Amino acid sequence: MAGTRRVSSIFRTCSTCKKPIAYATRYYVCSVSTCQRTATNFAFCTVDCWDAHVPTFRHKDAWAEEMKSPSSQAEAAALPIQGAANRNIATKKEPVMNEEAAKPSEATSEDVLIVASKLKSYIRAKSGMNTSASVIDALSGKVRKLADAAIAKAQSEGRKTVMDRDFE
Ligand SMILES: [Zn+2]
Ligand SMILES: [Zn+2]
Repeated sequence: MAGTRRVSSIFRTCSTCKKPIAYATRYYVCSVSTCQRTATNFAFCTVDCWDAHVPTFRHKDAWAEEMKSPSSQAEAAALPIQGAANRNIATKKEPVMNEEAAKPSEATSEDVLIVASKLKSYIRAKSGMNTSASVIDALSGKVRKLADAAIAKAQSEGRKTVMDRDFE
């Protein structure tokens, strides 16, 4: 059973600060799919380190996803993708476009409408809590509903500009 491979206690190194990320610890990946490709495969030891790469890669809507590294090298080797341990929070990535949503509008019904990093830091600052990735979608849906209602109100008054009072 014992392989000839050196047993390492380091799962990955942080893509920003290069500090080692141990097994069975919390780490972060970027919500942007290109940052999760095997070729790139970024991992970050803290949300701050994740934040640091965002301007570099000019992300618009991105957030850090909390992951847990596998408990051992053996477990990591058994995984189809390295670091896929807690992927479930991140699986619903590509929005499935149905025929209606496929029309060429600028903002589709799947678009993220809120600044995920700001919301996450607000929640963290206020409560110390993490924010699940799905919250961004849920809140975007709420913003979309409010915006739709405001649009209808502005239209009913013959305006071409949605105004603050349309949200009252
Ligand atoms: Zn780091
Ligand atoms: Zn990224």
